[in-house]
Amino acid sequence: MATAWHLQKAGIEFQLLEMSPRLGGRMRTASYPDSGTAEIGLEEFWEGNPLLEIMRELKLPLEKSASSFSSVVLDGRIHAFTQETNTDFLRSVLSGDELRSFQAWDAEAGRIQERLRKPPLPADLLSLKDQSFEAWVTQKKFGLSKKAQQFIRQQSEPEYGTSWTRISALDGIAEWRIFQGKGMQSFHLVRGNQTLAEAMAEHLGRSRILLNTQVTNIQSRSDHVEVIATNTATSEQKIFRAEHVVSTIPLFRLNEIQFSPELSTRRQEAIQTQGWGSYFTAHVFVDRAAERFWNALGPETLPILTGSSIGVVYEGYSPQTAGYRLLNLLITGDFGEAFNARTISFDAVGGQIRAGFEKLWPGFSKHIQRMTFYRYHPRAIAGWPVGRSRFDTLSELMRTPEGRLYFAGDFTEGTHSDDAARSALRVVGQIVESRKKR
Ligand SMILES: Cc1cc2nc3c(=O)[nH]c(=O)nc-3n(C[C@H](O)[C@H](O)[C@H](O)COP(=O)(O)OP(=O)(O)OC[C@H]3O[C@@H](n4cnc5c(N)ncnc54)[C@H](O)[C@@H]3O)c2cc1C
Repeated sequence: MATAWHLQKAGIEFQLLEMSPRLGGRMRTASYPDSGTAEIGLEEFWEGNPLLEIMRELKLPLEKSASSFSSVVLDGRIHAFTQETNTDFLRSVLSGDELRSFQAWDAEAGRIQERLRKPPLPADLLSLKDQSFEAWVTQKKFGLSKKAQQFIRQQSEPEYGTSWTRISALDGIAEWRIFQGKGMQSFHLVRGNQTLAEAMAEHLGRSRILLNTQVTNIQSRSDHVEVIATNTATSEQKIFRAEHVVSTIPLFRLNEIQFSPELSTRRQEAIQTQGWGSYFTAHVFVDRAAERFWNALGPETLPILTGSSIGVVYEGYSPQTAGYRLLNLLITGDFGEAFNARTISFDAVGGQIRAGFEKLWPGFSKHIQRMTFYRYHPRAIAGWPVGRSRFDTLSELMRTPEGRLYFAGDFTEGTHSDDAARSALRVVGQIVESRKKR
């Protein structure tokens, strides 16, 4: 949708083909009886996300959070983020010596992030892709205490949705930009993030968007591209011809597309060797008496990073008149993978979630009224394993057009919606350039 937005700005005609009956992709908001809402997918838009510009242009109301760190459970103890700033919160978690080594490590991550913004990358930096983020953080030279290491792990893992042992140090450092220094501000749309998709669709013009239209084949010709798509409701097939085609199909679905001619071997290698993280979402309805558990920690202490089977505990929106409070669990990593795998029953998933709450707050689970689960494909979010990186030549290749075919979407630049939005700006720039040349 961001690609369509920028094409429209550039005065280029487009047609958007969307497989599902709704818009927004992994940006989804659930609404419940009595007007409760909670995010199923994308939770926060970070400062610097180009989508924020679009929201401002559309005059969509935004709410912001204090800063990027969240309350965290370390060694069974909750450290509530009740302070104004990341630094004040850190002071409450780490001792003086621990904080000094953490700040030196954080400054080093900041220096590397600065250099990452100026490609091409020197070899010393690129070699950081060959070790895990964990191996880089726990090096003796940084002198980080076990607690500080755990803190870095707990804060960062929900961002890439997998263990810090499974992503390359270079990409772990890139992800840490959210937390580095004073940390980034995050934003959320007041009536739910899904409202962005609806407002964009109105602005783009609904006639330019075809829902229930699943792309199955992309055939590149010398002077145009043909896209074959099937209507998922009627199974009717249609052929679209275009001067350029931008695929924003997510990484995990690219293997479902028949490209003709076949994608180059190197491009296929880029796709096959990329890693991933897992996300599973649970919306938990609790009676209003349960608020005392999180309110006892101080005002606005959610979200909490539990590092357990309940993942990150966010608060959904539940109006005063609703007979429930709504919690939104973002469960990542091994628990996310197991819950998504469909090899255990939903009752078993619910049991593990109840157990996770009991461990955090004994007596809490009796307040649970019901839960609704949302599964994602096991490769819900793109990542880069040890040996790969968003900064390597294979990733650069994904950002290079193959004739008149362009690849965009979060996985071409990073892991999040800001990366998807940046990829949109890139492909539209590439298309404008190519048209100028002709
Ligand atoms: C649970 C969860 C929480 C997240 N939290 C955050 C967060 O807090 N902040 C953040 O910035 N990001 C977050 N993300 C990541 C963010 O949602 C994605 O980075 C972003 O949505 C990527 O946008 P995209 O357009 O690349 O892909 P998508 O949003 O996945 O959109 C791709 C679209 O392509 C369609 N499609 C797929 N195959 C076909 C086909 N063959 N034909 C036609 N259409 C097709 C899909 O139906 C979908 O609508 C989260 C993701 C998840 C799953």
